[in-house]
Amino acid sequence: MNKILCAILGLAILGLGAACASHPTQTPQTGEVGADKEDMSQQSNTQSEQTQVETDNPLLQEWDGPYGGVPAFDEMKLDDLEPALEAAMAENLREIEAIASNPDEPTFENTIVAMEATGDAMNRVLTYYYIWSSNLSSDEYREIQGRSAPKLSEHYSKITQNEDLFRRVQAVYDNRAEADLRPDQERLVTWIYDGFARNGATLEGEAKERYAAIQQELAELHTKFANNVLADEENYVLYLDEDQLSGLSQSLIDAAAAAAAERDHEGEYAILNTRSSMDPFLTYSDERDLREKVWRTYYNRGDNADEYDNNELITRILELRDERVGLLGYDNYAQWRLENRMAKTPERAMELLESVWPAALARVDEEVAAMQALADEEGADISIQPWDYRYYAEKVRRARYDLDSDEVKQYFQLDKLREAMFYVAGELFGYEFTPVPDGKVPVFHPDVKVWEVHDQGSGDLVGLWYLDPFARSGKRSGAWANSYRSHESFRGETTVLSSNNSNFIQGAPGEPVLLSYDDAETFFHEFGHALHALASNVAYPTLNSGVRDYTEFQSQLLERWLLTDPVIENYLVHHETGEPIPDELVAKIKRAATFNEGFRTTEYLASALMDMAYHMTDDPTGLDPDSFERETLDRLNLPDEIVMRHRSPHFGHVFSGEGYSAGYYGYMWADVLTADAAEAFAEAPGGYYDETWAGKLVEHLFAPRNAIDPAEAYRNFRGRDPEIDALMRDRGFPVPGEDGGDAAGDAGSR
Ligand SMILES: [Zn+2]
Repeated sequence: MNKILCAILGLAILGLGAACASHPTQTPQTGEVGADKEDMSQQSNTQSEQTQVETDNPLLQEWDGPYGGVPAFDEMKLDDLEPALEAAMAENLREIEAIASNPDEPTFENTIVAMEATGDAMNRVLTYYYIWSSNLSSDEYREIQGRSAPKLSEHYSKITQNEDLFRRVQAVYDNRAEADLRPDQERLVTWIYDGFARNGATLEGEAKERYAAIQQELAELHTKFANNVLADEENYVLYLDEDQLSGLSQSLIDAAAAAAAERDHEGEYAILNTRSSMDPFLTYSDERDLREKVWRTYYNRGDNADEYDNNELITRILELRDERVGLLGYDNYAQWRLENRMAKTPERAMELLESVWPAALARVDEEVAAMQALADEEGADISIQPWDYRYYAEKVRRARYDLDSDEVKQYFQLDKLREAMFYVAGELFGYEFTPVPDGKVPVFHPDVKVWEVHDQGSGDLVGLWYLDPFARSGKRSGAWANSYRSHESFRGETTVLSSNNSNFIQGAPGEPVLLSYDDAETFFHEFGHALHALASNVAYPTLNSGVRDYTEFQSQLLERWLLTDPVIENYLVHHETGEPIPDELVAKIKRAATFNEGFRTTEYLASALMDMAYHMTDDPTGLDPDSFERETLDRLNLPDEIVMRHRSPHFGHVFSGEGYSAGYYGYMWADVLTADAAEAFAEAPGGYYDETWAGKLVEHLFAPRNAIDPAEAYRNFRGRDPEIDALMRDRGFPVPGEDGGDAAGDAGSR
């Protein structure tokens, strides 16, 4: 089964190598996924004329070459995309029809397994489709995407609303107890059945038609929302003169100069309307007026009362989502959304968010007071505003921790960090990474490099790892991981094709690329997703799928290895002297890890709570996002000095698709698991490289993916259910029920 279908059935989304949006830093285009598996669709050999016309289309071709076949990224032409999509959809429907019309009694093999074996051509085409979407976007592509998104949606509706198919799935589901299935097979049946039932398969007549129409309209609105945000990111560029650069580091200035030159503004300095440009500018620029300008432009993305304004789209999206789950008998969207998550109910998710909120707000008060005192001392004669927060926080950080982010950067080299990740993967997973010579595997941009991943013990090839590290025009912001092919074994073992994508700023030629501590952490995070894909041992493609409030856990956990001793000693070395980062600086980083945690936790929680507020509304008809946002934040007592991490009009996690809608809480849910699991390592005899715990990590937390219930998998790993205390300790917040609770965390979490 292909990934989009999984996403639509609520099955996969992230999992099948889907574009993982990680961190609150990113804007995932949800439900988007790369392709998955090899072709063995015999049913489709009775090709129609249409497919025969397209047999030459490179985007449809089976992947050949080394490593079990690789995508032909060197043959991508946009002209081929729409015909390839059409042909792949037609083939997919023939595959599905063959299963649905099978005259034999429905069985696990002839229905569920047969479904798992469909969609190979779709997966191949969609791999290219999403490379264009995320890595190589252009106006021309966006036009195609605008036309294709509703067609794709319609296509999947045809499958999810195929009554004969559903009847067979239901029959297998009803008889599963007598079918002598393995536990993973029984989970597969249940997961697929639920996916249908939760997505309208039980509906009939008018309701069924309305459901399909809603799906199609939503797909268009999601795409439009995402493109509006992207347009506002690209269309607003602030060009500065030489005398407006006060406070900025040389590397920032260089990057701004390069960005300006790229836009035919030679001799000026461009501050882009993206997080990776905005964040350092607000942290370092001494020019308060410019900070305000950059801040306003960034936080008004999608909210400028022009053709790219997203407010009306939000209302319509919420109305349609509510109507849709209403057809299925749910009170609100969040109820429907969380049912198959680890949290199970919106109330449990809210309980978590609300239990942390007061401690976060209290910490913001302390942070603002400290910043205000410093500003007063300087005689700045201001009251702290949102565009001052990062700037004065950095000053307080320097005063209190003497931690200079720019000094820290000197020890975080992109290449060394990559080697460090390979080392960690070797120690924990037994993997060995070796570079693929340029030219052996096609790539879609010269920046992209590829590595082979082997098992050190057996020497077996596990898969490939693609890295697309640098920012460029047409590439979406943030960082993400996805797989072009995921693991499966039910028709032969596949090699996994995993990828990581970032937006690091490329330095001057020959200079090392230096990352901030946060970027280094994100790099490890995304690599965690890649390892999760590579370590998969599931038999069926659908079982690679993710449970949204669980799939960020593995990647967040991997961040904890960044500041472990062997990494510090061997890889965090000064780019000029080669000296390891001094103990003292590491100690400062660790002490500073909980610094500004009030800001980080509050801006995140404000977005998470807003997401839940929108989706727990029983009737969002006519809801005005502008006033809803303001009223909700007032009710929550969000301090004036801080703003949501993602304001509603550009909250792509929630409105560019449904991957994180009523699901943004999942980051913190995963944080609870992360902190709790990390403590198991911290307390183990061998620490973070303890062999026993590493074995458990791979066996219970990574390899099974979605083949067993996450709550059970976690218990198998930890020997008990997760507890919130470690998270509170990590953030330097008081642990409920404990006195003091001012313990220093050992590595910051988000
Ligand atoms: Zn992630």
